[in-house]
Amino acid sequence: MITRIIKVDPINPEPDKLRYCAEVIRSGGLVAFPTETVYGLGACVYIEDAVKKIFTVKNRPMDNPLIVHISSMRQLDKLVKEVPDKAYRLINKAWPGPLTLIFKKSDDVPHTVTGGLETVAIRMPAHPVALNLIKLSDCPIAAPSANLAGRPSPTNPKHVIEDLSGKIEVIIDAGDTFLGVESTIINLTTNPPVLLRPGPLSVEKIRELLGEDIIIPEFARGLAEIETAMSPGTKYKHYAPRKPLVLVESSDYRDLSRLIKKVMELCHEYSKSKKKVLIIASDETKDHYHCPTVSLGSRKNLASVARNLYKTLRLFDELDYDIAIIEGFEEKGIGLAIMNRLRKASGMNIIRI
Ligand code: AMP
Ligand code: MG
Repeated sequence: MITRIIKVDPINPEPDKLRYCAEVIRSGGLVAFPTETVYGLGACVYIEDAVKKIFTVKNRPMDNPLIVHISSMRQLDKLVKEVPDKAYRLINKAWPGPLTLIFKKSDDVPHTVTGGLETVAIRMPAHPVALNLIKLSDCPIAAPSANLAGRPSPTNPKHVIEDLSGKIEVIIDAGDTFLGVESTIINLTTNPPVLLRPGPLSVEKIRELLGEDIIIPEFARGLAEIETAMSPGTKYKHYAPRKPLVLVESSDYRDLSRLIKKVMELCHEYSKSKKKVLIIASDETKDHYHCPTVSLGSRKNLASVARNLYKTLRLFDELDYDIAIIEGFEEKGIGLAIMNRLRKASGMNIIRI
């Protein structure tokens, strides 16, 4: 298949171009499109054959459910059995935005979308291209991240082209995404609500909006696998580069000297065994190393670290290094999402100091 790559203005998307993409969605095709978090691979939620193609193209296990992207509250009503009162507290303040909520699904939602579950994950994205594409398609769009299963999520069109060119009808090129890590996922069908995946909307902010506590299970921190179907995607290896990645976590990021010492030690150790080592560090530490080093950004600006995360993991894969050592970050705000992704990307190859 020849994939059409369509360049679109991220802020004021050209209606003609999006109308063409919407027609592809309506006729059962797949379109990769930008959201504010990462690029998504979309199909019309009600066309089951199109939804099945998402799993085939990504090589995604059929029991790993998709997130349904909507552009209006009218679409939400058709997809769910009920909207609990507390959902409105989050929806009113955080939609459109990087927050996915789990609801009981209506009979209209095919089980293919939900990986066989009776619940459905829904979000209203804030990216103008995503919102307008959904509106013009006149159909909610089921979309996981637009990468091959297991690989780091795509934060720019180049990543999508690498993974999916020749396999889908259209890739929309609207440059870099704005946030760089996937949406926060909250399960509201349980009491108290549970964080299933940390993301750009912080737990601190969600607690404030809800006016109640939410549970943060170990797996949401990236520290444990779960057996139950509570958040099925979490049981698969995720976000990972193809080469080994070692994560060094500190119990206190206020004192960076211990972290630097440990990373340096590891670098010497691997270099001695003739491995080419890359250090993935922060602005505060990068000049202390004698090994090749790239920075994810400043520890004072974790949002920029999140934006650079996946493209740096993909860069490491492309460059001529055998192994990377990556520094950990404080689990505060979006730092919780960063650490969840890093722990998974390292395949639990973690050194704690
Ligand atoms: P992706 O868009 O590739 O990040 O994948 C979507 C993720 O959303 C899945 O891997 C699940 O972890 C989560 N998810 C989607 N639907 C549900 C659901 N009904 N219940 C729990 N988690 C879900
Ligand atoms: Mg994904």
